[in-house]
Amino acid sequence: MAQPLFLNSVFKEKIWGGNHLKKFGYSLPSNNVGEYWAISAHPNGLSVIKNGAFKGQTLDNVYKNHRELFNNSQAKKFPLLTKILDANQWLSVQVHPNDAYALKQEGELGKTECWYIISADENSEIIYGHNARNKKELIKMINDNEWDKLLRKIKVKAGDFYYVPSGTMHVIGKGIMILETQQSSDSTYRIYDFNRKDQNGNLRKLDIEKAIDVLTFGIPKKQLPKITKTNNLIRTSFISNDVFSVDKLSISGPVKLIQQDTYSLCSVIDGEGALSIDNTNYKLSKGDHYILTSDIKEWALDGNLMLITSTPSE
Ligand code: ZN
Repeated sequence: MAQPLFLNSVFKEKIWGGNHLKKFGYSLPSNNVGEYWAISAHPNGLSVIKNGAFKGQTLDNVYKNHRELFNNSQAKKFPLLTKILDANQWLSVQVHPNDAYALKQEGELGKTECWYIISADENSEIIYGHNARNKKELIKMINDNEWDKLLRKIKVKAGDFYYVPSGTMHVIGKGIMILETQQSSDSTYRIYDFNRKDQNGNLRKLDIEKAIDVLTFGIPKKQLPKITKTNNLIRTSFISNDVFSVDKLSISGPVKLIQQDTYSLCSVIDGEGALSIDNTNYKLSKGDHYILTSDIKEWALDGNLMLITSTPSE
C-alpha cells in the first residue's frame, strides 16, 4: 500500500533568527531559530520519516535504497530541499554558485532557489539583484563600501514569489517569513554582513572572491504565475524550469488529484484538513511536510488548506 512520507526535521539557530516558527506549531530550541529544514536529505540537516514502513529512517537513506519511490530517478542525491525561514533581522548579503562552480569548489550541487513569502511586516524589503553594470564596477562598489548604491532593494508582501537563480545577489529582509524551495546544497558566499558580530563577538566569514566569481549581472526576469481554478481548488503555478516546478494549492473542500511519473514535496503553510490515499486518511495541519512518492498515483485533499508543492525536474 502506497504511503506518503511525513517528516520530522532540523531547526537551525541563526544570528538573524527569531521565534516566529512557533506559528507553525513547532516547539523551538531557542528564540534565535532562523531555519527549519522541513524536507531535507542534505547531510547538514537530515529529515527523518515519522510514519509507515520507513519510520525512523533518514530521507537520504530511503532515497538511496528505494529509488522506486522516486520514479527511479538517476539523480545521485535527493535534488531538492524545502525550508521555512524566519528573518527576524536581515540575513547577510549573499550569492550561491551554479552547479559547475559548486561541484568544482565545494563538491556539491549549486543552489538555485525560490521564495514564497508566507508573511511580511508592513514595508518590509528584500535585496534582489544589484546595480553594478560590470565586474569592474562591482569590485569598486564593494571595496568602497557603497552598499546603498550597489544593492537593489524592493518591497515585498505576503503571497509574492521570487525566483532566485544561482548567481543572484540576494538578502531576505527583517520581518519576513518565507518558504524556500532550493537545490539540495549548502553553498553560500557571503559578501557583506552589516558588520554584525555573533554571540562570541566574532564577525561571520565572508567569501568575497568566490562571490565575485559567481555573481551575475542584470535582474532575473519577473515570471507571471499561471492560475487555474477548478472545484474547490485554486492552483498557482509559479515556475517550471530545468531545476523544479513550484505550485501553490488553495483547497476549500474535497479535491481529487493525480501525479504521473514524478514525486512531490508538499508543505502545509496554512489551514487544516486531510489527505487520503488508498482509503487511508492522514490529518493535515499548518506546519506539516510530506513527500508524495511516485508509487502514489492519485490522492484526495479535503478541508481548508494552503500548500506549497514542488517536483524536481531531474
Ligand atoms: Zn540564498
